[in-house]
Amino acid sequence: MEEEIKLMFIDEKYIQGLLDTAKSATKEDIKLVLEKAEKREGLAHKDIAVLLQMEDKEQLQEMYELAGKIKKDIYGKRIVLFAPLYVSDYCVNKCVYCGYHTCNSFKRRRLTQVDVAEEIRILESMGHKRLALELGEDPVNAPIEYVIETLKTIYKTQNNNGEIRRVNVNIAATTVEEYKMLKAAQIGTYILFQETYHKPTYEKMHPNCIKGNYEYHLTAFDRAMEAKIDDVGAGVLFGLSEPKFEILGLMIHNEHLEEKYGVGFHTIAVPRLKPAEGVSLENFPNLVDDETFKKLVAIIRIAVPFTGMIISTRESGEMRKQLLKYGISQMSAGSSTGVGGYKEREEGKSIEQFELSDQRSPIEIIEELIEDGYIPSFCTACYRKGRTGDRFMSLAKSGNIQYVCEPNAMSTIMEYALDYGDDAFKIKVETLVRNLADNLERDDIKQIFLKSLEKLKNGERDLYL
Ligand code: SF4
Ligand code: SF4
Repeated sequence: MEEEIKLMFIDEKYIQGLLDTAKSATKEDIKLVLEKAEKREGLAHKDIAVLLQMEDKEQLQEMYELAGKIKKDIYGKRIVLFAPLYVSDYCVNKCVYCGYHTCNSFKRRRLTQVDVAEEIRILESMGHKRLALELGEDPVNAPIEYVIETLKTIYKTQNNNGEIRRVNVNIAATTVEEYKMLKAAQIGTYILFQETYHKPTYEKMHPNCIKGNYEYHLTAFDRAMEAKIDDVGAGVLFGLSEPKFEILGLMIHNEHLEEKYGVGFHTIAVPRLKPAEGVSLENFPNLVDDETFKKLVAIIRIAVPFTGMIISTRESGEMRKQLLKYGISQMSAGSSTGVGGYKEREEGKSIEQFELSDQRSPIEIIEELIEDGYIPSFCTACYRKGRTGDRFMSLAKSGNIQYVCEPNAMSTIMEYALDYGDDAFKIKVETLVRNLADNLERDDIKQIFLKSLEKLKNGERDLYL
């Protein structure tokens, strides 16, 4: 019975009905939804459907402005940076959109712990503090014990002042028992993309393989939450099914978790289907163009203002720049999506899971973010302070999170400059953070930050609120 209830939360006919009804929304209806969104009182499914169906250019512009305002009010200027780490490309699944699917023949690899440590030292020398650990599903070649051992290696490997302070983990849907093991290994967010909420498409995309069980995949976060993992990160792969359907699927999934466990998605990632080895895009009729993609990002921002939004280097620098305005709060930098890819990148040998569009180094991305008025952040404070799950959400919803995010961003970018920047960059960042400190709303926070700045310059590290 319990199992049946879980399965009922995504109802294809219901979602389709919402989208059909919303097609006849008038300009007045749209105006009312935008007003409601501005008050941040939460939008009903039918309201989100109205935004998804709207086409009027003027009202679209209004929506973008609103998304930008929400983004600015809640997240301020900070953009959190991270990198993915691929440790194994063994996979028993046959996801038709992925270069690692089991039928694709290439020499597969699982990193040894010595290899992992080597990758970590490279990532640390790039300044990274936060990783997303990625691997294919293979209970024999990459079982949960391997993941746990890898996490231990990551956390204990240091390179001068470099250390990884938070590892978010993206492993296949699994059991409560295995999620408990992940929780005990101190993961940050547990990430799992539904890929598509549309069941017939899901089954078509995952033929004859473990991952093909839609219900098991859909209820993975329920099991993770039962194992007391309270930060979960969701996403769909845009391009598989109708994107408007996917947005409503995401929203309904989020509400299901909020209702049942008191907290919904910590983050939503927005990957778009990209070419990969052995995968052609000709057979995907739902590819999302740039304009639609921007609209989807803005709607997610408006619908779930307190859920972080993540973009990867699948997107070009230009597209990432635009999306930062409408909702993205975290982005990867200097990524490699091949196993052992950081070491092999220079040699051009690695097989990436998908093609990357933004191939710039972290420092280039950081320089551009600063030029555009953002504060690049390597902050990992919340989960280390116990601010996870509903504790995090209540802080975010009260608006008080900004009092820690911004100074933490300032401390971490200063730490980065001191450890990895040349003299000119150090001066530039110190000037920036001092100016930012002058504009902090609360004087007590400003004083704490200024003390931290001196401590950082005297060699202390890892200072956060
Ligand atoms: Fe395997 Fe993941 Fe690729 Fe599917 S998407 S084939 S599960 S690595
Ligand atoms: Fe993220 Fe928390 Fe740091 Fe803010 S303070 S950037 S929410 S980890």
